[in-house]
Amino acid sequence: MSRLPVVFVSHGAPDALLKAPEAVACWRQIGRDLPRPSAILAVSAHWEARQPTASLSGAPETIHDFSGFSPALHAMQYLAPGAPALAERVVSLLSAAGNAAALHPTRGLDHGAWVPLSAMFPAADVPVTQLSLVRDAGPAAHVALGQALAPLRDEGVLIVATGSITHNFDWLDWQGAGDPAPQAEIFADWVAERAAAGDVAGLLGYRAAPHGAAAHPTEEHFLPFFVALGAAAGDRPVRHRPPFAYGGLAMDAYVWPAAGP
Ligand code: ZN
Repeated sequence: MSRLPVVFVSHGAPDALLKAPEAVACWRQIGRDLPRPSAILAVSAHWEARQPTASLSGAPETIHDFSGFSPALHAMQYLAPGAPALAERVVSLLSAAGNAAALHPTRGLDHGAWVPLSAMFPAADVPVTQLSLVRDAGPAAHVALGQALAPLRDEGVLIVATGSITHNFDWLDWQGAGDPAPQAEIFADWVAERAAAGDVAGLLGYRAAPHGAAAHPTEEHFLPFFVALGAAAGDRPVRHRPPFAYGGLAMDAYVWPAAGP
């Protein structure tokens, strides 16, 4: 079985499926271009736990973990089958790497996972489970998490990390008009340059980069990117850059194609 790419998507605001058509088109295209995985491991900014935790759910519910958006969004369902065997494999890989991990019996898919997956895999026929972030662990710990998960790429598993390249609500214009916040563009371009260079050490120091600390007042939306970096194992990414959402949320997606033979 050939090695699968690793994907990171900025999932945007919860209403991306309704309000960010370019990002949705980008996710669809990424999904079409990927080899078909046997299962998906989603690592979303919207699940943090004390230790890495994977869901055993055989039929993950669609979690509408937001409020105040349109009824159409609250009615959406993404009913892919679960992947309990993958969850157990994840825990075993993490434990072997010295990372005590846990299983959750029922946890479903939060919007960080089901929103982009419903565009990438619209038939909802690829089994999926989620893995949590580790609360209060920083970027380096999440790179290590990704490194421990890299063997999954040779087992038909697609790792989809889902967060945001910028996540400062002070930069957003909820009316949606106007040019992107310059700070968001500067930081997103800095990330892209470092990622293209394979400079994981530089990325770990992102808070000292131009607008880095401001781009992430809290880290959880950037941490999935570090999981992807770890799982990418030195592959160089392709950057996709749909327009910013609400003028300040960089919607960049990255695909690390498997390196050639
Ligand atoms: Zn989010």
